Amino acid sequence: MKTDTIVLGAGIVGTSVAHHLAQRGRSVVLVDRRGPGEETSYGNAGLVERASIYPVAFPRKISALVEVALGRNPGANYHWDALLRLAPWMFAYWRASAPARLLDYARHMEKLLAFTVDEHDRLARAAGATHFFRDGGWLKLYRTAAGLDVERSEFPLAHSYGLSAREISVDEALAMEPSLRPVFNGAVIWSDPHSVSSPGGVTQAYAAHFAELGGQVRKGDALSLARLGSGWAVMTDEGSVEAPEVVVALGPWSMDLLRPFGVKLPLQVKRGYHMHYHAEGGASLSRPVLDEEGGYVITPMVGGIRLTTGVEFARRDAPKTPVQLDKTEVLARGLFPLGARAEPEPWMGSRPAFPDMLPVIGPAPGQNGMWLAIGHQHLGFTLGPITGRLLAEMMNGEVPCTDPAPFSADRFG
Ligand SMILES: Cc1cc2nc3c(=O)[nH]c(=O)nc-3n(C[C@H](O)[C@H](O)[C@H](O)COP(=O)(O)OP(=O)(O)OC[C@H]3O[C@@H](n4cnc5c(N)ncnc54)[C@H](O)[C@@H]3O)c2cc1C
Repeated sequence: MKTDTIVLGAGIVGTSVAHHLAQRGRSVVLVDRRGPGEETSYGNAGLVERASIYPVAFPRKISALVEVALGRNPGANYHWDALLRLAPWMFAYWRASAPARLLDYARHMEKLLAFTVDEHDRLARAAGATHFFRDGGWLKLYRTAAGLDVERSEFPLAHSYGLSAREISVDEALAMEPSLRPVFNGAVIWSDPHSVSSPGGVTQAYAAHFAELGGQVRKGDALSLARLGSGWAVMTDEGSVEAPEVVVALGPWSMDLLRPFGVKLPLQVKRGYHMHYHAEGGASLSRPVLDEEGGYVITPMVGGIRLTTGVEFARRDAPKTPVQLDKTEVLARGLFPLGARAEPEPWMGSRPAFPDMLPVIGPAPGQNGMWLAIGHQHLGFTLGPITGRLLAEMMNGEVPCTDPAPFSADRFG
């Protein structure tokens, strides 16, 4: 069959792109080897992180690096065999984490973040998915004065962007979340972020609405993509699909497709784990809670209390090593009455990330008719809908809602 656009990858990013293109009257086929929202977009912490103007940066202090190297930071883990291969990417990440570069990141990222809550809201209303969403912000807890000081240092820039970050007492935090135990010494409530009870459910609802708009969701292997004249063809379970334009939104698998086409981009992954728990004794949470020094988030989801871990540097397909989950679970049990694990196996996923932590949204270098929506790192669930809007505007020749230049693949030369 012939269509206007093929979108490869039905995570939150590809689904949002497909949706925005279909809304503009294009015929679109969304291709994935699984169902929509079953991979990274399923397993995340479900935060619409409107307020994350600073990235998760590479540690700049030697003492912090030593903690990671010695396995004393529960927020980070690494595989020795991956470090050598990752060294150039890590060095670029370290450089991009210099204080001045973090300000550049914030300036660029704020251009997207400013849209995130409204774009999700618009899509959720259209898709009948508002029941997954809640406000109430994001509660961050600090065990040490030094940790709280770092957080405080972010307030001036956050306030200059009109964001609400407020330091609160331990008692105030306990009044907000009565099931928490006072194992922390300080807290900050960020009011602007929203969160969801099922990021996979949200992605599926957006995909279902895309289908209502006339879009098609098909199973297929994106790696079958081939040039066909000046356009593209991909094989799906229901036969070949041909289109003049293709969008690559394969998340952590994007380079598997792009490399053979000669598109060289420094995309790597930051792995992470999650586990669901039953809450004991009628305990409950009403919003995501970050234990900063503990290196984990706990958040209420449809499947129970979800604990998500920090970053693991490893080959994407290396076997799971959920040591962070084991470490953080002990800390989380001190903070909240977690009951038994609800699943036999931890979930693992990979955050697709460029060293400067900005996504690529725009044309693929050297490939006419190919567009990219990749590298959304820790913020892909947040950024999916605005990425979809921005890319659809670029592809349609509309005036973009924000300057797409900082997100161009050309920045890598
Ligand atoms: C532990 C953890 C916590 C996180 N918490 C948050 C959070 O709170 N908020 C936030 O904004 N972000 C969070 N993130 C990041 C976020 O989950 C990702 O950035 C986002 O899901 C990436 O979406 P995507 O659509 O690019 O990729 P994916 O959701 O991975 O989608 C890619 C799709 O491509 C498909 N695919 C791959 N290869 C092929 C192929 N050969 N053929 C066909 N299909 C293929 C896959 O099946 C998949 O459906 C978290 C990530 C992790 C790991």
